[in-house]
Amino acid sequence: MARTATAVIKLTAIKKNYLYAKSLAAPAKAIATVKANAYGHGAIEVAKALTDVADAFGVACIEEAKELRDADIQAPILLLEGFFTADELTYISENNLWCVIHSQWQLEALQQARLTQPINVWLKMDSGMHRLGFLPDEYAKAWHQLTEMSQVNNIVHMSHFSSADDINSSFTAQQTVLFIETINNLPGDISIANSPAVLTKALTKTLTEKLTQELTSREQWVRPGIILYGACPIDDEVLAQPLIPAMTFTAKVISQRVINKNDSVGYNALWTAEKTTKIGTVSIGYADGYPRHAPNGTPVYINGKQSRVLGRVSMDMMMVDLSMFTQEDCIGFEVELWGDNILASKIAKCCETISYTLFCGLTRRVSRRYI
Ligand code: PLP
Repeated sequence: MARTATAVIKLTAIKKNYLYAKSLAAPAKAIATVKANAYGHGAIEVAKALTDVADAFGVACIEEAKELRDADIQAPILLLEGFFTADELTYISENNLWCVIHSQWQLEALQQARLTQPINVWLKMDSGMHRLGFLPDEYAKAWHQLTEMSQVNNIVHMSHFSSADDINSSFTAQQTVLFIETINNLPGDISIANSPAVLTKALTKTLTEKLTQELTSREQWVRPGIILYGACPIDDEVLAQPLIPAMTFTAKVISQRVINKNDSVGYNALWTAEKTTKIGTVSIGYADGYPRHAPNGTPVYINGKQSRVLGRVSMDMMMVDLSMFTQEDCIGFEVELWGDNILASKIAKCCETISYTLFCGLTRRVSRRYI
């Protein structure tokens, strides 16, 4: 039997999720975050599906932006993480890429660049994540430097939340206040919210009346990523409910057997049968992107029934419980690894990771099919 690892991707679901994110953030505009091959969903296909609704797209680096431009995606594209070299500023300016600027060396590169068109800059503030950006006391100086450059057109104030997925953390409120206070006297649009902040309406919840006025007097851009793909970054059923899972990841049962009580299964014999048990082998493994550390009991969905992983996931295969199908020949049965019936966030929780890593981890061995 041919290998059958497939990710079926519902582009209509991604469009609905994007519009849902926009409705939560209205009147803000929304960057559709399609970096990392649209979190494994296929950047070109996703961008094409969103072309008539997306205000702009967000990618990590210039190669990802080029991929979209080469596929004739016309909307503005933001280089979200500010990965570019001085040499690439010409391409950026000629191809309407917007550019995150986070460091002094980038200001200097921009100042020396000879560009045919001025570029739109998103100036990044480090409001507490301490990954990229100008610290609040350096920020106004960087902004003033940019305003004096003929190479620069528009400047958006930008920062990034570190803990918006933790609804009990006060850090999001602290970052928001610091961000808004720092840009207080600097005109321009703003952007700070990622998916969890969009879902929880983090900005409007935390600001004082004065700072809310500061916020609403400016245009805002939100930057949803994971929710476009239908996964909720917060463990909360109410927040998750409106999101439509876009990816269904499946493989097939390629072998079956009945093992005896006390027989063990897989590498390192991590699971032992407590009674005579029918088990199946599925053509999916960690080389496809299914996590090796999925423990015994991680749920899978087989031919309409809930089942579970048995033993250690190996490179190309894993074993599952077929004891609910004692009478049937299970060869060729479809096994859903995550999707409509088993949320990726549930598998992520079992594996002590996040749905982002599951989606991004799908390898090229998995064929993507778009519906
Ligand atoms: N903005 C930036 C700068 C990011 O790095 C990311 C993702 O890592 C996002 C937005 C989207 O985040 P999320 O997928 O949590 O919405």
